[in-house]
Amino acid sequence: MLTGPGRRDTPRRSRLGCRLAGALSGGLTLAACLLMPQPQVHPQSPPPAHPIAIVIHGGAGNISRSTLSPEKEAACRAALREALDAGYRILQQGGASLDAVEAAIAVLEDSPWFNAGKGAVFTSAGTHELDASIMDGATLRAGAVAAVRRVRHPIRLARQVMERTPHVLLVGEGAEALAREAGLELVDPAWFDTPERRAAWEKRRSQAPAPNEPGPADVAAEGKHGTVGAVALDRHGHLAAGTSTGGLSGKRPGRVGDSPLIGAGTYARDATCAVSATGQGEFFIRLAVAHEISARVEHRGLSAAEAAAAVIREVGWLGGEGGVIVLDARGRVATPFNTTGMFRGWRVEGRAPVVRIGPED
Ligand code: ASP
Repeated sequence: MLTGPGRRDTPRRSRLGCRLAGALSGGLTLAACLLMPQPQVHPQSPPPAHPIAIVIHGGAGNISRSTLSPEKEAACRAALREALDAGYRILQQGGASLDAVEAAIAVLEDSPWFNAGKGAVFTSAGTHELDASIMDGATLRAGAVAAVRRVRHPIRLARQVMERTPHVLLVGEGAEALAREAGLELVDPAWFDTPERRAAWEKRRSQAPAPNEPGPADVAAEGKHGTVGAVALDRHGHLAAGTSTGGLSGKRPGRVGDSPLIGAGTYARDATCAVSATGQGEFFIRLAVAHEISARVEHRGLSAAEAAAAVIREVGWLGGEGGVIVLDARGRVATPFNTTGMFRGWRVEGRAPVVRIGPED
């Protein structure tokens, strides 16, 4: 049974020793256990080494040649690579998985090609409302923000919620007041605009029969997402996860999706796995996708890859589209999705970095 977020298995040598000892007669058991080599704990000894790893995503969707020009594909791949490198560099220098997640996501928030930070989609009212969350797998501490309109890097503000307040989720103006206190960069809301997103909003507006606002079906028809996320494993064996988004295109002002909800779009627990999701948030909220994956690892003994694949299948059964990136404490990566593509990349120590969009490429 798992007893805490950072539970470690009994060292193999001593378990084996006790099993061998069990084969001996009862009176000898205790003595044999005591004679077997036991793990030594020295206060000064360095922490145990773990493989370092990072996985990122830039959203899942029905990505095709008609929606992704070669130039845009190259720009997306380059941004994913830059984000991977930013996070991996921190891990290589012995930094924390939380820092790697925050750094990788901040790079993608600054890229106009993804629906987070600059390049965020428009609400039906022609505004931007940004959501983000971050979670520490070692302590289960978490922070999140929703519907912020002026914070350049919402993921950094989510981290401040976690570290500076007793709360997990702050919204709107209250969240922005914290950003000011923490000295985070605030920008004019127009900073998040890009010509492509504005054109998509104007097209939607001209097609929508006023005064009706788009319902979930209209939003789903957009078909392409672009939320960003990262999960990382540091040298100390600690996992972290984070997600940042502009939400769904044409959403009603005030709508909050899965990305800032701990357990839906983001979850991390050292003893199971770290998860960041992307897709139609309403479905991910209803299935509590990120926590559900962690819970299946914990209670059903599934691998993180098996658990993630099963839960993404269930998202599909409900009619939802999207995917997740998953990493466990052994550095094993899974990236299941039920759309035609998901922008994603990973780098695991000792192996070359990988960036993919479709199922194979
Ligand atoms: N999950 C995000 C939301 O529902 C959108 C996305 O991943 O594209 O807000």
